Amino acid sequence: MSDDEGGEEYLFKIVIIGDSAVGKSNLLSRYARNEFNPHSKATIGVEFQTQSMEIDGKEVKAQIWDTAGQERFRAVTSAYYRGAVGALVVYDISRRNTFDNVGRWLDELKTHSNTTVAQMLVGNKRDLENIREVSIEEGASLAEAEGLFFMETSALDSTNVKKAFEMVIREIYSNVS
Ligand code: GDP
Ligand code: MG
Repeated sequence: MSDDEGGEEYLFKIVIIGDSAVGKSNLLSRYARNEFNPHSKATIGVEFQTQSMEIDGKEVKAQIWDTAGQERFRAVTSAYYRGAVGALVVYDISRRNTFDNVGRWLDELKTHSNTTVAQMLVGNKRDLENIREVSIEEGASLAEAEGLFFMETSALDSTNVKKAFEMVIREIYSNVS
């Protein structure tokens, strides 16, 4: 949107957190580029990607940050969280320990933020139903207890990926507008 229309511009920083290999990088590449990488190793150098959507006739840009694999060493820096107004906290429905660690990620997020952060709990790899270790009900009840939105996604088959990001972006927008 150009300034001569007198419109406001919105730019929101969103972080994606959660244990290693839960699918954070693939959720972002699915959302921002509609790409999936079955062999993705450590994240390749990209700090964030920007994706726009329209709300109330306004262009809203989300700057979505991906860890560069620091989560492997529990070394996600405070710079990563700085200024974030939204967060996706991701676990892998086929690995219970990644769900057990969600509380730690929520604590870390709380420690590093000094503003309202729109948060969504994301159970990724929903396509792996046959080796599921965390039920939908468990995810939903944790989210309810913590006051988070909740969605199960698949970066592989695209289920709910766009929905999850857009729900967070809409919530941020409604927090600030
Ligand atoms: P990150 O470490 O959290 O960034 O996880 P990645 O995005 O690198 O994904 C880790 C592994 O899980 C990769 O082999 C991905 O191909 C795979 N993966 C990611 N999302 C999904 C998904 O929704 N379904 C399935 N089956 N595999 C996925
Ligand atoms: Mg990654």
